Amino acid sequence: MYIDTHCHIYKEYYNSIDDVINESKANGVTRFIVNGCDMKSNKESLDLAHKYEEVYAAIGFHPTELNDFKDEYFDWLEEHINDNKVVAIGEIGLDYHYDDTDKEKEIYVFRKQLDIAKKYNKPIIVHTRDAIGDIFQILKEYNLRGSIHSYSGSVEMAREFIRLGYMIGIGGVITFKNAKNIKEVVKNIDLEYILLETDSPYLTPEPYRGTPNSPKYIPYIAKAISDIKDVNINDIRRTTTGNAERLFDFSNK
Ligand SMILES: [Zn+2]
Repeated sequence: MYIDTHCHIYKEYYNSIDDVINESKANGVTRFIVNGCDMKSNKESLDLAHKYEEVYAAIGFHPTELNDFKDEYFDWLEEHINDNKVVAIGEIGLDYHYDDTDKEKEIYVFRKQLDIAKKYNKPIIVHTRDAIGDIFQILKEYNLRGSIHSYSGSVEMAREFIRLGYMIGIGGVITFKNAKNIKEVVKNIDLEYILLETDSPYLTPEPYRGTPNSPKYIPYIAKAISDIKDVNINDIRRTTTGNAERLFDFSNK
């Protein structure tokens, strides 16, 4: 079985979540970590996790979703962090892509969530865009583990994150012809540190690029990794699923 370690299968993006889950299971994808980004999607992630046995939740506040952020949201996070279906704090991180970025606020919210992860011994799911240097410097101060989701940095930087205790999230971009950089990363890092993810509904892999993504496409990502590393796809599946099970506690207790 495969695990999609990062997706956003919210109702607004799909006609039927039942169909998404069933089509994915038919393709061998039997576990999903639905990541929240703001209060609304965090609550929806929890609802989905409680409704579907196969769904687990990551809850957290995304750096580009902080416009209406309130400090009391940290309390909400602490109130729900020990829910039996919450396996991580995510999607959290830093995103300096936009000109009006409030870096100070992003760093403040990120650090507070890292403190909560530390307090409750939870893994984190990290978003980084145009901010990898700051992410690395901050994570170095914390003794945490987690996933660097939708990784797009260098091979050397990936090795640094792995040394810190992180795994590297690989998604649909790996199937794109022009994605030389991430192909180099996958080729050069050990399979023991790779997690499969779709980031649905975004970043749809080939040959479905241009249509909404779904966790059912995870095998296309595994196939691309199999080709790049010249490792049998069954070994890709077994090892990456084992990696996810090592990082996240799916015991539902
Ligand atoms: Zn995401």
